[in-house]
Amino acid sequence: MNRFHGKRAVVLGGAGFLGSHLCERLLADGASEVISVDNFITGDERNLAGLRMNKRFVSLHHDITEPFSFNGPVDFVFNMASPASPIDYAQLPIETLRVGSLGTENGLRLAQQKGAVFLQASTSEIYGDPLVHPQREDYWGNVNSVGPRSCYDEAKRYGEAIVAAYRRVHRVRTRIVRIFNTYGPRMRLNDGRVVPAFVGQALRGEDFTIFGDGSQTRSFCYVSDLIDGIVRLALSDVEEPVNIGNPREMTILQFAEAVREAMGGESRITFKPLPKDDPKQRQPDITRARTLLGWEPRVRLEDGLRETISYFRSVAERPSPTRQSETLADAGPSL
Ligand code: NAD
Ligand code: UDP
Repeated sequence: MNRFHGKRAVVLGGAGFLGSHLCERLLADGASEVISVDNFITGDERNLAGLRMNKRFVSLHHDITEPFSFNGPVDFVFNMASPASPIDYAQLPIETLRVGSLGTENGLRLAQQKGAVFLQASTSEIYGDPLVHPQREDYWGNVNSVGPRSCYDEAKRYGEAIVAAYRRVHRVRTRIVRIFNTYGPRMRLNDGRVVPAFVGQALRGEDFTIFGDGSQTRSFCYVSDLIDGIVRLALSDVEEPVNIGNPREMTILQFAEAVREAMGGESRITFKPLPKDDPKQRQPDITRARTLLGWEPRVRLEDGLRETISYFRSVAERPSPTRQSETLADAGPSL
């Protein structure tokens, strides 16, 4: 429970889906202060609503591609900042490349200055459309460097490279988590990823849109399992990349069936063209996480989907947000 007791943590991208869950978990684990730094480009103030009254939590509005620093000690820097859904990064390709490169380096500089542990949220996308299955961390990947996903894949590959360089040159204590498809409450209903897409369609009584013939596979990890893996990695001394994801693999057609069953609806299927470079298969090999971190996913898809669906039902009608975060300038010298 008190694994972060007395520790001050900075979460870059703390207002996003995963970042907000991480902020909550760090506070629950006893962190003395958690500072979220986010420009809200794909995040949402409402993800932080439950933390507003917590005196150990600060939310700053700042674009991490611009330099930043804080007074006082920092023990951990978690870099969760980046557009992450294929629709988001297709609309924001340059922002995605800039946050993955300049933003990551600014975060590394902070960790170097403070002697903090730096944890990089990397992705299964660094394996591209993989030719090795399931994907182990020692597979180098199959990525199209100029395709529609390249702004994300290459930014994340560069991110891993600059993290490794700061470890070698400046001896920053670095961790790299390769996150496989993760879902749960606080995903945006309209972010285009398959979980909110199908749940949203079922809620509106629309057909499921399946891209291609639905034979492509993914492996879905519930958010609490993922955050648990990230926390274990941050507290370990493992410097090589670690896959965190749920190895239960299924086709997208099977996933549509699982959502239909969970929602008890009648949704039918409409087939749409498969986007270019859409990976045909994806399943994490989690041997490294099991052996080095003692980590294993616990939440069954059926249970995770139930939580997620109930969240999406609750937000389907909610009003728009009001801005409440401070800018770095507002926050004053104490940070
Ligand atoms: P998200 O879009 O909900 O969160 C990303 C956050 O980063 C947002 O709050 C956004 O506003 C913020 N951000 C983006 N650019 C920024 C900038 N320049 N300055 C400050 N803040 C900025 O996405 P997510 O699903 O929570 O993903 C979080 C991280 O995990 C990302 O780095 C993503 O690549 C990685 N990841 C996620 C998944 C997944 O399945 N959710 C899979 C693989 C990797
Ligand atoms: N997908 C789909 N219908 C949708 C959204 C996505 O069939 O409405 C497919 C998509 O083509 C991909 C898989 O579901 O094969 C997972 O897509 P997502 O965008 O969630 O994440 P990805 O793993 O591709 O980054």
